[in-house]
Amino acid sequence: MPGPGYEWIGKEEEEEVLDVLRSRWLFRHGDDKNPAFKRKVKTLEEMVQEKFGTRHALAVTSGTSALITALSALGIGPGDEVIVPGYTFIASISSVIVVRAVPVLAEVDESLTLDAADVERKITPRTKAIMAVHMLGNPCNLERLCAIAGKHNIFLIEDAAQAFGASYRGERVGTIGKIGIYSFNIFKTINAGDGGMVVTDDDDLYFRAFGYHDHGHFPNRAGVEIGNRSIIGQNYRMNELTGAVLIAQFRKIDMITQRLRYLKSRFKRQIGGLRDLTFRTINDPAGESNTLLTVFFPSMEVADRVAGKLDTTTVSKSGWHVYSNMEQILGKRMITGHGCPYKCASYPCKQEYSKGMLPGTDHLLERAINLSVGVVDRGLGSGFGINPLSTDEEVDRKAKEFITAVRGSL
Ligand SMILES: *Cc1c(COP(=O)(O)O)cnc(C)c1O
Repeated sequence: MPGPGYEWIGKEEEEEVLDVLRSRWLFRHGDDKNPAFKRKVKTLEEMVQEKFGTRHALAVTSGTSALITALSALGIGPGDEVIVPGYTFIASISSVIVVRAVPVLAEVDESLTLDAADVERKITPRTKAIMAVHMLGNPCNLERLCAIAGKHNIFLIEDAAQAFGASYRGERVGTIGKIGIYSFNIFKTINAGDGGMVVTDDDDLYFRAFGYHDHGHFPNRAGVEIGNRSIIGQNYRMNELTGAVLIAQFRKIDMITQRLRYLKSRFKRQIGGLRDLTFRTINDPAGESNTLLTVFFPSMEVADRVAGKLDTTTVSKSGWHVYSNMEQILGKRMITGHGCPYKCASYPCKQEYSKGMLPGTDHLLERAINLSVGVVDRGLGSGFGINPLSTDEEVDRKAKEFITAVRGSL
């Protein structure tokens, strides 16, 4: 079962898509004077700029391509290190590898987002960026992370793939660091099957991001680029059908956020009194996107027993988002190789990825269970919980079931 946007795909999405199909122009670039060109992708970008208060928004094919575009726009490549959390989706790590830089894994804290103290410990002369992942819709401690990035003169990239619409102290996540990204995959807050977006206030970064996503062309192919294309890019362009679906989904974002906030607070209130149960730290309770509810138990044994009774798993056994479950990187070694400007004593710099390398993260995740609110996804470990369409009665019944499982496990 996917993210909340899925539940509200309806007439509005249908009409937007038909508008494009009937015009037959499915490509994002077109002639503004031609009425057949519906400029859906451009409109989506403008809507996000306006509502989120960001100077530039660039639609792309996925959250993964958005990350690769952002890293490339920042000029991150061979010789560079990027600090990423050990609890995230593999794309935060693989995108760094794709641009031939080295991902350096850091611990998460009780918010299940980057532990600022560990980030500082992991900074080396080769560190170019910190990737702040707003995991499970919960904003990172951006105050601390921005301060660290500023102090060390490195970039803060926001991976807000799981937190579209969330905010931190009144500002939308994704728009606070140097550059940010969103995903519109089916498991995210709003979706078009797949899709992604890059946002930044920096004109120069936007220029390079646009070029990277469109074979080196100038923004919107202004027609001035022939003879001037200096960037080797890719094709990560969004098409008009995807843009059309996302316009309709985007108009529903406030409604979705309000609905999830109501559901989560109702559920949380009822289970809040349980002995020995604690909740994940939420860095901005007014701004989180409320897609999941994470609880901690005093020991792995208790957490395993509760999970067993609910027919779900602890987060550490959920299979997808924990570094120790990522066979793609485990046992591998990354070497900061050619082009590294720092021929220091430890050159070439080695990063190894192994189970147990982040003991703090392990200790948290083996005691944690994710309960679904808006995103029902076994890959996140959220096999038990409620969903966006749950009635009050169902929320109350699920809360009782949960309480019974916990009381029987302590
Ligand atoms: C889903 C996700 C991505 C990648 O987005 P796709 O659209 O699936 O490519 C990146 N980072 C995080 C944290 C994600 O959850």
